[in-house]
Amino acid sequence: APAVAFDRISKTYANGTVALRDVSFSVPARTIHAICGENGAGKSTLMKILFGLEEPTGGRIWLDGRPVSTATRDFAGRHGIGMVHQHFSLIPTLSVTENIILGHEPGKGGLIDRAAARARVEMLSRRYGLAVDPDAVTGRLPVAAQQKVEILKALSRDTRILILDEPTAVLSPPEINELFSRLRDLSQHGITILFISHKLNEVRSLAETVTVLRAGQLAGAARLADVPDNM
Ligand code: ADP
Ligand code: ADP
Repeated sequence: APAVAFDRISKTYANGTVALRDVSFSVPARTIHAICGENGAGKSTLMKILFGLEEPTGGRIWLDGRPVSTATRDFAGRHGIGMVHQHFSLIPTLSVTENIILGHEPGKGGLIDRAAARARVEMLSRRYGLAVDPDAVTGRLPVAAQQKVEILKALSRDTRILILDEPTAVLSPPEINELFSRLRDLSQHGITILFISHKLNEVRSLAETVTVLRAGQLAGAARLADVPDNM
């Protein structure tokens, strides 16, 4: 079964805006899948539904062939879904380690064991080739390093599905190449990656498959090798 299947997902916001209409596609496990479309196409809404932040008004999500209710407590954490937000979710005055363990269950007595937390950050950063100083003050790091922290945070809870929302917007071209290498490594490690972009061209060298949304509807789905150059 695919890692994720979107099954006739629709979303109408409370103000009447139809953000998604009957969107269906699936993402095979351990692949890198791009979701493209212009601003307003519905990409973020779809990812918020997968992350459990918005409820669909129609349709269902399937994970590994099982239907799931996304509107349940700690949905993303329980199902191993991590998200790298376009505007980072990090607290600049806290250390890298503190940011990564935020949101985890605290240890006995409500205290988090700092040494264990730091060791976990070092293990994750070694395993995924995302080198950062676990003791650095997050807000003093260059933006590309802060993004690594954001990625480590998203990976820190037995994550199997990683969503990245326009992650290249804040990066220089060499930093984009570095990010893409790390994402290929992650997919080699068995993580399924959903990569949101408004530029189809930028995902050509990264993603194996792409879904194109237009005005809330599926405009196309293809292997990238089959997408014509002028699209
Ligand atoms: P994209 O990520 O592709 O730019 P969005 O999912 O952010 O698209 O937006 C899809 C549509 O839904 C747009 O028309 C947007 O204005 C609208 N929209 C997004 N969030 C909300 C919201 N919370 N309330 C009402 N409308 C929204
Ligand atoms: P939901 O109520 O969100 O549909 P389920 O009742 O299907 O969730 O899942 C119950 C528990 O099983 C969850 O706490 C979760 O840890 C685990 N689980 C369900 N589906 C998966 C999955 N695809 N991968 C890993 N764990 C899962």
